[in-house]
Amino acid sequence: MSDDYTLDTLAVHAGREDLTALGVHALPIDLSTTNPMRSIEQGGDCYELLATGGVLPEGGTAVYARLWNPTVARFESGLARLEHAEAAVAFSSGMAAFTAALLAFTAPTGKKHVVAVRPLYGGSDHLLASALLGTEVTYCGPDEVAASLRADTGLVVMETPANPTLELVSIRQVADQAGDVPVLVDNTFATPVLQNPLDHGAALSLHSATKYLGGHGDVMGGVIACSEERAAQLRPIRAITGALLHPLAAYLLHRGLTTLPLRVRAQQENARRIAEWLDAHPAAAEVYYPGLLGDPSGVLGTQMAGPGAMVAARLVGGYDAAERLTSSVELFTHAVSLGGVDSLIENPAALTHRPVAGDAKPDAGIVRMSIGLESAEDLIADLSRGL
Ligand SMILES: *Cc1c(COP(=O)(O)O)cnc(C)c1O
Repeated sequence: MSDDYTLDTLAVHAGREDLTALGVHALPIDLSTTNPMRSIEQGGDCYELLATGGVLPEGGTAVYARLWNPTVARFESGLARLEHAEAAVAFSSGMAAFTAALLAFTAPTGKKHVVAVRPLYGGSDHLLASALLGTEVTYCGPDEVAASLRADTGLVVMETPANPTLELVSIRQVADQAGDVPVLVDNTFATPVLQNPLDHGAALSLHSATKYLGGHGDVMGGVIACSEERAAQLRPIRAITGALLHPLAAYLLHRGLTTLPLRVRAQQENARRIAEWLDAHPAAAEVYYPGLLGDPSGVLGTQMAGPGAMVAARLVGGYDAAERLTSSVELFTHAVSLGGVDSLIENPAALTHRPVAGDAKPDAGIVRMSIGLESAEDLIADLSRGL
C-alpha cells in the first residue's frame, strides 16, 4: 500500500491489502493452535525460522500458535504502518510487551543495565525496581540520560506524555544522549495519531493496546513497533515465554485502529475544553495538561501533534477532595485504565502509581482523568457537582 496515504486512510486499510484477493471483506480470524505441515522437512524448516524470530514465508506453516498467528500478524502489520515502522510484535498485555523488551535487549546481549527516565507508568516503574528480570536500573531525569549510561546499558526507557502529570519529554534529546543504546518510548498516551517515536530517534514504540488502540475497555494487549531486526529479537522471547495476544483480541484491536484517529481527535477536543475549564476552577490547585503551563520541552506541535485526551489535576482539598470527587461523579466511572470511549477518573497515588517508591510517587491529591466521547458540557457538569 502506498506510503503517500495519510494516517486516516492507513488506519482503515493497513493490514487488509490482501482481503479482496481472498474474497472476504471483514478481517479473518484464525483460531488454530496447531497447523498442518506438508512434510517433516517443511515443518522443521518453518519451525526453525519462526523460533529464531523470522516471518512466516509465503506458503509456509505456522507450526504452532505460540510461534505465529495470521490474525495477530495482520494487526501487527496495520499498527506498524501507523507507527512508521517496518514491523510490530504484539503481546498479551502492555506489561508483557515491556517484559519482552527488557528480556530481549538485556540478558541475550550480556547487558543488564537499564536507564529509566522518570516518571513512568507505575507498573513499568515497579517491574524495573523489583529487579525481577535480573536487570539493574538507574532512574533519572530527561537531562541525565548520558550521565546515567554504563558500558552494560542495554536499553533506555522513557514515556511521553509522562504519567500521570502529562509533562512532555523530548524523544530526540533522550535518543541523542543514548547514542547506540536503543530507546524505548511508551507511546500509550499519545497513540500513533499524535506521535510517532521512531521518527524522533526511538528504536521501539510500545503501546498498552488495552487503552486507546482497543478503545472500548474490552480487550487487553500490548504491542511494540520497531525495525524488522529488532522485531526478530522480540519474537523469540514471545515464543519462549508465551505472552501471546489472542487472535480474537488481535481482531478487536485491528478493528479498533479504523476509528482510532477519529476517537483520539474528538476525545482530545473534549479534554482541551475540560482542562481549560478546570484551570479556571478554584478547587483545582494545579491542572496538568500539555501546553496549559507552557511547553518547556518545546515538542508540542512538532514531536506531538496535539495535547491528547488525558487530564490530571491536583485538588486544593488534597486526598479528601479526591475521594469526594471520585465518589460523586455519575458520567465518569471511578476506575483505573484509560483511552476508552467513556470517561474514567482515578487517584494515581493510591492506584496506578501505588507501587512507585515514595519519593517518585505522585501527590495524593492528584486525580487523573481519561476523557471520552461524551459531550464536554455534560462532563463539565458532572465534575462541577463533585468539585
Ligand atoms: C496501562 C499501561 C501500561 C501497561 O499495560 P497493560 O496492558 O495494563 O499491561 C503501560 N504503560 C502505560 C502508559 C499504561 O497506561
